[in-house]
Amino acid sequence: SSVMAKSKFEYVRNFELDDTCLRNCYIVVRLDGRNFHKFSEQHNFMKPNDNRALGLMSRSARSVMEELEDITIAYGQSDEFSFVFKRSTTWFKRRASKLMTHVASQFSSSFVYYWKEYFGEHPLLYPPSFDGRVVLYPSNHNLRDYLSWRQADCHINNLYNTAFWTLVQKGGLTTTQAEERLSGTQAADKNEILFSEFNINYNNESPLHKKGTTLIWEKVNETTTKQIKRPDEVETEITVTRTRKKVTSHSCDIIGEQFWEEHPDILES
Ligand code: ATP
Ligand code: ATP
Ligand code: MG
Ligand code: MG
Ligand code: MG
Ligand code: MG
Repeated sequence: SSVMAKSKFEYVRNFELDDTCLRNCYIVVRLDGRNFHKFSEQHNFMKPNDNRALGLMSRSARSVMEELEDITIAYGQSDEFSFVFKRSTTWFKRRASKLMTHVASQFSSSFVYYWKEYFGEHPLLYPPSFDGRVVLYPSNHNLRDYLSWRQADCHINNLYNTAFWTLVQKGGLTTTQAEERLSGTQAADKNEILFSEFNINYNNESPLHKKGTTLIWEKVNETTTKQIKRPDEVETEITVTRTRKKVTSHSCDIIGEQFWEEHPDILES
């Protein structure tokens, strides 16, 4: 306030560090749930994938995109979500701590706010939290490799978790036995266990679980009907179509070229 601005205490502001993000770089904020291994057990998440929890994560990420400026794409899997600010953003003067804390707190409060929409009467037992970090990527190539890295991680973890929980839930193994059974196995071995012992073709598993969730802004047509009545005329109904920008959700491959060819405005030159 103006009172503080003139006080003899004002000099302490100079102790604040400059954390302005290098210009021209994409700013990525990645959040990850704190201790969600335990959180998922205490809230009886379905294993390996609880769709209520994945839905709530995406809903919270959408709220981040709608409330904060200049996020062009977000990618999430498990208890994590990454948000990409456009490289030219000047939001909060590109101050890393401001961007990261706004993303983390908007996400956390939304996670609690929308809990009931996804978990119904199943209670939230304590306030969850998410850590955040900021990473800068100077080129489109680096940014795509970052997103590819997270999606590859989703695939590796999901294949492992699918094999692990199938061995436990359908194969009757203890968690320790399932862990031993899978130790040292390659992707091909896990696919083979699923197929030959449980008749599960991993390729047919849900895209949401294999690919995670990508959120982007897209133009969508919205048609609404309006009642119109002019003096001395009967009431008539007209349809109005507007294009609006909306956050849309995709569970598709973002490693290959196709997604980026279909959505050319996400990457800037
Ligand atoms: P910014 O997003 O830049 O922080 P701001 O609107 O939050 O913008 P602040 O300088 O943080 O601005 O000031 C917070 C304002 O919130 C106060 O000026 C006051 O109007 C209001 N406010 C906060 N706490 C209270 C309270 N307990 N009772 C009444 N008003 C409050
Ligand atoms: P840290 O605090 O270090 O992040 P963590 O326990 O959150 O520890 P992570 O590596 O982030 O560990 O892993 C998150 C864990 O949360 C997963 O291994 C899984 O057990 C659980 N989990 C997260 N989302 C889901 C989900 N949708 N369905 C089932 N389990 C989930
Ligand atoms: Mg971790
Ligand atoms: Mg975690
Ligand atoms: Mg995690
Ligand atoms: Mg304030």
